[in-house]
Amino acid sequence: MPIASINPATGETIKTFEPLNEEQINEKLQRAADTFRSYRHTPLAEREQWMMRAAEILETEKNDFARLMTTEMGKPIKGAVGETEKCAWVCRYYSESAKHHLADKIIETDATKSYVRFQPLGPVLAVMPWNFPFWQVFRFAAPALMAGNVGLLKHASNVPQCALAIEEIFRRAGFPDGAFQTLLVGSEAVETILTDRRVVAATLTGSEPAGRSVASIAGKQIKKTVLELGGSDPFIVMPSADMEQAVATAVKARTINNGQSCIAAKRFLIAGEIYDEFERKFVEEMKALRLGNPLETATDIGPLATEQILKDVDSQVQTSVAAGAHILTGGKKLERAGNFYEPTVLANIPSNSPAYCEEVFGPVALLFRVKNIDDAIQLANATAFGLGAAAWTNDTHEQEIFIDELEAGCVSINGMVASDPRLPFGGVKNSGYGRELGEFGIREFVNIKTVSIR
Ligand code: NAP
Repeated sequence: MPIASINPATGETIKTFEPLNEEQINEKLQRAADTFRSYRHTPLAEREQWMMRAAEILETEKNDFARLMTTEMGKPIKGAVGETEKCAWVCRYYSESAKHHLADKIIETDATKSYVRFQPLGPVLAVMPWNFPFWQVFRFAAPALMAGNVGLLKHASNVPQCALAIEEIFRRAGFPDGAFQTLLVGSEAVETILTDRRVVAATLTGSEPAGRSVASIAGKQIKKTVLELGGSDPFIVMPSADMEQAVATAVKARTINNGQSCIAAKRFLIAGEIYDEFERKFVEEMKALRLGNPLETATDIGPLATEQILKDVDSQVQTSVAAGAHILTGGKKLERAGNFYEPTVLANIPSNSPAYCEEVFGPVALLFRVKNIDDAIQLANATAFGLGAAAWTNDTHEQEIFIDELEAGCVSINGMVASDPRLPFGGVKNSGYGRELGEFGIREFVNIKTVSIR
């Protein structure tokens, strides 16, 4: 894929970039390695100030950064402003909490003193997706930099201007040149970079194939990886749930970010006795969403990020319909410039259709009728993914069963799955491994060094 900003609402190419050549990549890796040697010794108090300054820059210029995101990948502007604010939050959170997460941990043994010290590893490669072009990067960078690592960002090829803007934010905040660098390269360059001895670990947020590739390259080199991959999150509604709230949240959880979120609710599993009412209300609210220019604040759904995603989503829908699925609303792209796809609801989805088996990365909801809680759990877990899961019930016994039995990295009861800087985030099964955010996130890229003094 060429490295280019193409406005998905109009199809206009805004700017193209030449990928870095071998010599330029080498220079940046050397700068990262050289910077790490001194950066790891900078006092934590200094890093705290720089990270706080990064939060201030994000907040002060949030409208500019939001516009940049929206023009590069099409998310509605309200969401883009919210994303920038959330990046400021994660910078503040780690600026304030890193000292607690990284403090020596005393463990009593028969030695005179024994404890654990958390030390940085070195330059970490971050391979990132376009869907939350700021948030995905900041949730890696804030803990990694606070822990004393340095970051190398290989961002998705369709958001190069976001990638450069993020590098600039850290530089302006005071971090030394080389503490966080953007590498404008395509995915074919990842293997060479990751096998380079100066890069010590990698994190990837993206699709399953990309995760498999990066994990196997890193595995051969015995380098640590964290993988945040796809999801096909269930959203279960039981008879005791608050119907109005469940429907409103279900619509939001499916269509947030134009339906392109790893933790979007994708499969709606509704108890038989309330299914018809849920279906009617849900379809009504999906139909009422405003599709249009993502730069307008009244817009609920903008274009899909690329023409290829539009084609993929449409093909998944058409193939599923040909296999027997019913369209309750939507089901086609708009005949206008830009990658617009109608908010879509499918029901009666056969188990051999793409909508049933694959992740659908667009505003397409899949409705299923379930007989009881066992049926709901069985269907919820009948996927290769295990990222998030939401269950709606006011029965506390049922809540406990869902918490215990759902195969997912995050379970939300009577709400939607969302990330929070204070809480760990990540998946199980083919959704990946390792955790980002909170105390667990900052501990992923550190040497957990055991010290024992006799
Ligand atoms: P993608 O195609 O896998 O791209 C993600 C990143 O990986 C991009 O930087 C891409 O570079 C790079 N890449 C692609 N193939 C690669 C390979 N073989 N080796 C090394 N790098 C490679 O995914 P996407 O379409 O951008 O993002 C959507 C996917 O990400 C969905 O499956 C979604 O669920 C998942 N996601 C997961 C999370 C989570 O936290 N679990 C969060 C957000 C998104 P190029 O752009 O240059 O190809």
